[in-house]
Amino acid sequence: MNFKELAGRHALITGGSRGIGAAIVECFLREGASVTVLGKSPSGISDKFKFIQCDLSSEQETAEACKKIKSLGIDILINNAGINKIGVAHEADLADWERVQAVNVRAPFMLAQACLPHMLEGKWGRIVGIGSVFGSITRAGRVSYSTSKAALAGMTRSLAIDYATTGILCNTVSPGFIDTELTRKILTPAEIEQLCQQVPMRRLGKASEIAEYVLFLSSDRNTFITGQDLVVDGGFSVV
Ligand code: NDP
Repeated sequence: MNFKELAGRHALITGGSRGIGAAIVECFLREGASVTVLGKSPSGISDKFKFIQCDLSSEQETAEACKKIKSLGIDILINNAGINKIGVAHEADLADWERVQAVNVRAPFMLAQACLPHMLEGKWGRIVGIGSVFGSITRAGRVSYSTSKAALAGMTRSLAIDYATTGILCNTVSPGFIDTELTRKILTPAEIEQLCQQVPMRRLGKASEIAEYVLFLSSDRNTFITGQDLVVDGGFSVV
């Protein structure tokens, strides 16, 4: 019989319909977790997991979802859903800025609030935020996004310290350039090729690679890593 790393664990994964989130869902199901996906649109619904429909940019919808989540008994929270809005500060629409912060920072905080009581009760929990290499370095036009991802990493460090003696480990996984819809939406094929030339490993990362690092940090194999930001970028940020 195959050993399954997440057998008996219930994981909540936000934004599991595509990209990195979908790869995490697939990986966690393979490892025996029961999975609840929270997403904006019901695309990709499957009988393999529960689905909660919620627009995380809405505080009210997120609060409603949190009420349901409190009774689900979530052991592992993966804050993956994230949005980006390219633009410079003096031209930015404040509503766009607020939407980015709401989805990328406020929602992860509210979801952590909803999941922590069960984790504390069970004396075991894992919270993994999907940050970005642009949370620690940045490039032009990323003011909203970089702010939000730096905040997510900061929040994760604080959670890690506050719950360090309770069996709850909190970390961020920060991808570099990954081959997903988000990347293809914001970059042209020529820009993607150019980008690969800036990555020491000369390629984009795969969503399935990110999922394996998230799995490690979410499993019993992770026993002593908390409050860290694991950058997974093929060497991009260290050149
Ligand atoms: P995608 O754009 O491919 O998918 C985003 C997911 O988030 C979708 O499932 C989407 O759901 C969900 N989502 C977006 N907005 C909301 C919302 N308001 N409420 C609920 N769910 C929402 O993203 P990626 O897979 O590329 O990225 C996943 C994470 O990884 C993000 O946090 C991103 O910032 C981060 N990241 C990605 C990188 C990359 O190269 N792709 C690099 C570094 C970090 P729906 O389908 O319903 O809209």
